[in-house]
Amino acid sequence: MPANEMIVEKIVDYTPHMRRVIFSGPGVADYLADPPCVPNIKIYFPRPGQLLDQPGEDERGRWIFTGDQRSRVRTYTVRWMNEASSQLAIDFVRHGDEGLASAWVERIVPGDVLGALGGGGRVLKPGGYALMFGDETALPAISDTLEQMPADQVGQVFIEVHNEAEIHELAKPEGVRVQWLPRGQAAAGATRQLIEAMETLELPAEQVAAEEINLWVGAESQVVRFARQWAAKVGIAKSNRLIIGYWHLEMNEVAYGKDSDHDRVHGEMDFERPGHEAHRHEHTHEHEHEHTHEH
Ligand SMILES: Cc1cc2nc3c(=O)[nH]c(=O)nc-3n(C[C@H](O)[C@H](O)[C@H](O)COP(=O)(O)OP(=O)(O)OC[C@H]3O[C@@H](n4cnc5c(N)ncnc54)[C@H](O)[C@@H]3O)c2cc1C
Repeated sequence: MPANEMIVEKIVDYTPHMRRVIFSGPGVADYLADPPCVPNIKIYFPRPGQLLDQPGEDERGRWIFTGDQRSRVRTYTVRWMNEASSQLAIDFVRHGDEGLASAWVERIVPGDVLGALGGGGRVLKPGGYALMFGDETALPAISDTLEQMPADQVGQVFIEVHNEAEIHELAKPEGVRVQWLPRGQAAAGATRQLIEAMETLELPAEQVAAEEINLWVGAESQVVRFARQWAAKVGIAKSNRLIIGYWHLEMNEVAYGKDSDHDRVHGEMDFERPGHEAHRHEHTHEHEHEHTHEH
């Protein structure tokens, strides 16, 4: 079985700190045919200056990462897929050279290759009152969720971004209010803007009581841990929350996965995008770290 090789076709900086990479190639075709697993996929990077190394296979023919491949795996959101053009887009936050993915994305040129494995994950269930909080790493997921919402959806979304130059139009239902929170001079992961937005938010009491609030949070670990406490305090039912740490200050993704599994807890909202539940890649889902054993 070939690995999901994805070839960089086009690079679009749609804001100064968000770089959209549009991939084509056999890996993308596999995702489209398989059928696609969304919203999240695992991508893995070649060693600097080398060709992409293929993952191994277990005894059942399922892909597994071998050797040091695991340290080169990162989680990203599929921003969109286009069956007609056989393309897949990922939006990368440009956060400097300290990250494997962020350094890679600064240097790419069309024709560069990376690997992708599996996919899946939960999404915010539609309906009720939608409440979303995220920083720019969650912006691809938030944008996609807003695009999928029914036209009569109501809710509020808070998005922390680098600065005002990152603010852009989002396709969304009229009844969902989006509030941008630019950091200005502050560093990513060093602000309390999302936390303060939660603390000062006045939730419609009737909807809290009727368990109609659906909460989604994707951000740095500290925000996520606060969000869970806050959600419990204001009475948002656990089964109506989906709270995931997207990154951890001063920790790379592999270390964060090992340390606290992205601050996930069991028993939160368990809703998959309709049409994708049955097609989940057998061997991978959001907790792939445990599902991709070494030989
Ligand atoms: C389900 C899920 C979906 C995600 N989708 C996306 C997506 O679509 N686009 C996207 O850009 N990110 C997304 N992320 C976040 C992304 O996986 C992490 O930011 C990841 O750490 C980036 O890898 P890296 O190799 O660049 O940095 P790493 O090597 O993992 O980390 C190196 C250093 O960079 C720091 N760092 C990591 N991310 C950031 C950041 N955003 N800003 C500042 N410092 C940072 C770390 O604290 C660490 O010190 C997602 C995460 C999850 C869990």
